[in-house]
Amino acid sequence: VESMTSPAGGTALDVLSHVFGYGAFRGEQADIVEHVSAGGDAVVLMPTGGGKSLCYQIPALLREGTGVVVSPLIALMHDQVQALRAAGVRAEYLNSTQTLEERSRVERAYIAGALDILYVAPERLNTPSTRSLLARGEIALFAIDEAHCVSQWGHDFRPDYLALSDLAELWPDVPRIALTATATEATHREITQRLSLGNARHFVASFDRPNIQYRIVPKRDPRAQLVEFIRAEGQDAAGIVYALSRASVERTAEYLVQRGIPALPYHAGLDAHLRAEAQSRFLREDGLVIVATIAFGMGIDKPDVRFVAHIDLPKSVEGYYQETGRAGRDGEPSVAWLAYGLQDVVQQRRMIDDSTADAAHKRQAMQHLDAMLALCETVQCRRVNLLRYFGQDSAPCGNCDTCLEPPAVVDGTIAAQKLLSTVVRLDRERNQRFGAGQLIDILRGKETQRTRQHGHDSLSTWGIGADTSEQRWRGIVRQILAQGLLATRGEYGVLGITEASGDVLRGDRAVQLRDEPEKSPRARATRKA
Ligand code: ADP
Ligand code: ZN
Repeated sequence: VESMTSPAGGTALDVLSHVFGYGAFRGEQADIVEHVSAGGDAVVLMPTGGGKSLCYQIPALLREGTGVVVSPLIALMHDQVQALRAAGVRAEYLNSTQTLEERSRVERAYIAGALDILYVAPERLNTPSTRSLLARGEIALFAIDEAHCVSQWGHDFRPDYLALSDLAELWPDVPRIALTATATEATHREITQRLSLGNARHFVASFDRPNIQYRIVPKRDPRAQLVEFIRAEGQDAAGIVYALSRASVERTAEYLVQRGIPALPYHAGLDAHLRAEAQSRFLREDGLVIVATIAFGMGIDKPDVRFVAHIDLPKSVEGYYQETGRAGRDGEPSVAWLAYGLQDVVQQRRMIDDSTADAAHKRQAMQHLDAMLALCETVQCRRVNLLRYFGQDSAPCGNCDTCLEPPAVVDGTIAAQKLLSTVVRLDRERNQRFGAGQLIDILRGKETQRTRQHGHDSLSTWGIGADTSEQRWRGIVRQILAQGLLATRGEYGVLGITEASGDVLRGDRAVQLRDEPEKSPRARATRKA
């Protein structure tokens, strides 16, 4: 790398220190910079916070011409360009938020060779006018950021990314570097194929984030649990709380503020200026908690986020990993905390069933969800499970909840049989299907308006689970659902049996369950204090 000099005469290390103010490259940055600066194509898989930007910014500065960066994150382009300019880099962007005058100023600068880096939104890059503009200047390289957006099966698919494959034909001599923090083998393959990167060198960083402690707890009262968690672990620390709905985001932020935890809501339904203010206060202030839908965080560069909490189940392991990856970019100990419950499983299965997507996409969404459930239900190391999902082997980490307090596993075969036979009886004898709540009331022999109305007290399984608390039953139903021994059917989250349930009912298959104490010892201690 040292021998690699820029038109201005600097080496990669000079640029790193003089322009960006850093003393050393991290991980594979040096190799990537050298390879791309020398004109090679690259596919870079690096976790969020790993330092992908420098991998194309420095080669863009070292090579003749302008580095063209394709990024879907239009909202962040302005900030990225400002940051580069502050470092003395001649950077601009082209996207739909600009006026005609602004655009022509940028275009003139590009043609004159007065730009080091030009960010372009993918839909703009694909227009004939942008293509002919690019042909009038000199291109140092193409960087395709968030390259997983090319994956049709992924959660961020952008049709405009598919058209980027012809950059290779139009500019065969311009090196291309595709970068992503999504590392599944399937996505990796798709990026390579769809972006015509067959001759690229591949740089796959470790996805382990050793300073992040993973914790997944059964959901009881998520907001109260969240407050408990923040008071115990994250007092005065900056954190991000993710919730699924806008309403839940606002209620949760309010709840935190009422309990003395400074928090702001953030979701796409809020005014742009409110969102901008939340974002800038989060970057500036210490100890602020942002409660957000997943709209928040893509590209947020705050190194000292001490925790990321989820009060709803993420839809996929990729999403979970990216969101939790926003914690601890500075390498200091941080926590990824998730509360997850029966309702999450029922609700997400139902959302997939009810969606208008075609069968193949539904199957894909179900697989994503199942992988996420497996991570939640595992009694082994969370990190091992997470990294295996990304195709990387590792040893138990000693820094996740299951390593620190290995959950007891109990034989849940009889409980499962009680539950499943109730489902079968209702279905076969009465042609009725119910959700988890009613099933649990039947098992516990709880008289309610609904159990009376349906005469459920005459079922042979009435009250056979009375020795087990409602809380525990909810945990059991959740785990049995997650194990595929129950299925959600139709709109109302009613439960039906699956092929595998038959094996359990016949006694051919044992069911292992996590033993979940009703209250964690930590929670008790905090409450007393
Ligand atoms: P990614 O795009 O992979 O999420 P970024 O490129 O945004 O990561 O980098 C994450 C953070 O790490 C940024 O604050 C960046 O300035 C910093 N960083 C990157 N490379 C280095 C380095 N070699 N030395 C010190 N800090 C670095
Ligand atoms: Zn572990």
